[in-house]
Amino acid sequence: MPWLALPFEDKREQSLSRLFKVDGIPLLAALGPTGKTVTIEARGLIMAHGADAFPFTDERMAEIEAKFADMAKGWPDKVKNRLHEEHELVLTRSRGYTCDGCDGEGKVWGYNCEECNFDIHPECVFKASGNGKEVVEEKGNPEGWVCDGDVCYKAS
Ligand SMILES: [Zn+2]
Ligand SMILES: [Zn+2]
Repeated sequence: MPWLALPFEDKREQSLSRLFKVDGIPLLAALGPTGKTVTIEARGLIMAHGADAFPFTDERMAEIEAKFADMAKGWPDKVKNRLHEEHELVLTRSRGYTCDGCDGEGKVWGYNCEECNFDIHPECVFKASGNGKEVVEEKGNPEGWVCDGDVCYKAS
């Protein structure tokens, strides 16, 4: 392993477990340069953000959140989509889903119908009119789109 490791069954494992209050493995704790614990939930942060999570600080998490918020800037809160005409789809932060439009994996943002467990990429909602951001950032209704209050849908 490219990092310091204790041999299996080393007694010091118990004091480490106590120190980090380990009640289940795998657990990944991140320590700062001074040895202070940054988080004992680094595993979840890596699962969610990959290497972007480094160095696991609150500041880094705030940066990532800001980036995600920026990504969705200008996207409507609710849309209608022809693949799911029964209900409005709501812009939702997601840990992961399978897109009902293209079968691809999605995360971070999706349009979702909770009632029907329907999820779709924002890109797949906007695709028919090119780049989603352009569609909704332009003034007024994008061509071919009808907006009724907060809800926008592509006119068929
Ligand atoms: Zn998709
Ligand atoms: Zn639905």
